[in-house]
Amino acid sequence: ITSTLASKIQSQFPLLNNHQNPLKLCYLDTAATSQKPHCVIDAMNEYYHTYNSNVHRAAHQLSARATVDYEKVRNDLVTFINARTRQEIIFTHGTTESLNMLAYGLESTFSAGDLILIDSAAHHANIVPWQQLAQRTGAFVKAIPLDQDFNLDLIGYQKLLKLRPKLVAISHVTNALGTVNPVSQIISLAKTANAITVVDGAQAIAHTSVDVSELDCDFYAFSGHKMYGPTGVGILYGKTEKLAQLTPMLTGGEMIKTVSFDNTIFGELPNRLEAGTPPISEVIGLGAAIKFMNQYFTKEHQDEEKQLLNYLQFSLAELDDIEIYASNENNLGVVSFNVKGEHHQDVGILLDQQGIAIRCGHHCAMPLMDLMKINGCCRVSIGLYTTKVDIDCFIDALKQVQQLLKD
Ligand code: PMP
Repeated sequence: ITSTLASKIQSQFPLLNNHQNPLKLCYLDTAATSQKPHCVIDAMNEYYHTYNSNVHRAAHQLSARATVDYEKVRNDLVTFINARTRQEIIFTHGTTESLNMLAYGLESTFSAGDLILIDSAAHHANIVPWQQLAQRTGAFVKAIPLDQDFNLDLIGYQKLLKLRPKLVAISHVTNALGTVNPVSQIISLAKTANAITVVDGAQAIAHTSVDVSELDCDFYAFSGHKMYGPTGVGILYGKTEKLAQLTPMLTGGEMIKTVSFDNTIFGELPNRLEAGTPPISEVIGLGAAIKFMNQYFTKEHQDEEKQLLNYLQFSLAELDDIEIYASNENNLGVVSFNVKGEHHQDVGILLDQQGIAIRCGHHCAMPLMDLMKINGCCRVSIGLYTTKVDIDCFIDALKQVQQLLKD
């Protein structure tokens, strides 16, 4: 396999080329957050250096420029995920906030006894807000079962749909295992039961092309920092008529049409769901990340990334005493494993001593860890800048860790 494209891209990421660091960093924790290219950092710097100001409503030029740049990113996102209109893109601070905003915003439409179906392999961000909603309203939550390979069990799902759930919340790609859920099928089946569909796209957005119109989901949530953009900005996509039904979780400035001491009339979408000063520099940084992805996240590069993940799965499987979880050639971005008989945290710390950054723990998916009967695992995750050399370094380092732990 080659990683020609990744090698070219790596030079654009300052943190991956920090020569002051005595160990060359081998960053394999992209699923937690991706590294940021120069263009993203520069766009945010330029905003703060040359036109820092608040957006909307201002009489001066700085604000006019900030507003244009901020709102342009909304247009870029419409194209990026193939939404229909600007009203369908709501800026939040991240996937977690997007999902909480939904669970709060839908509350008035829930009654005691309503059923919410969630994905057993979900991130806590797509579990806890629904549990809280259920506690507040008397609704109840059921998890869609998994098969023995920890893939979503479609037969079990169809059985649950007979209970006429009000809402189905799933992950597009799971963060703990990298499993790609058959989202199109899950959504179209949910529609036969008339359920609201929510997709957590946090792990999908940087690894596959997302087309929300084709998926036909009601809502789709993701974070900027997983797609080479900054932290502190996320997106809630929703069909206009569905977003219009949400009760705003935050109220205050920016989201109103008129306010008097007696009453407030809320404004139109998207402002209605964006109270207060938004994350302006972060949105501008995200705009640069989208431009970066439009340039480099080509079909060719997606294929290269996929081959690299398969190479990683294969190389790990070649080692003795490694348990790999739900490794599948269709997975995206992530491989999870344990060294038999060793604690995942020890493995992670020893790898770190050799300059290899991976993540260990429950990966915010405790219910999945329970189903897998483990208390955690090591997760290696890749991005556009990951090369074959990175994978080879990781495998060599892991062999040494195994030796060290044996001694
Ligand atoms: N869902 C998934 C699948 C994730 O991987 C993450 C991030 N680990 C989240 C939700 C939460 O995203 P954020 O922390 O950016 O809000």
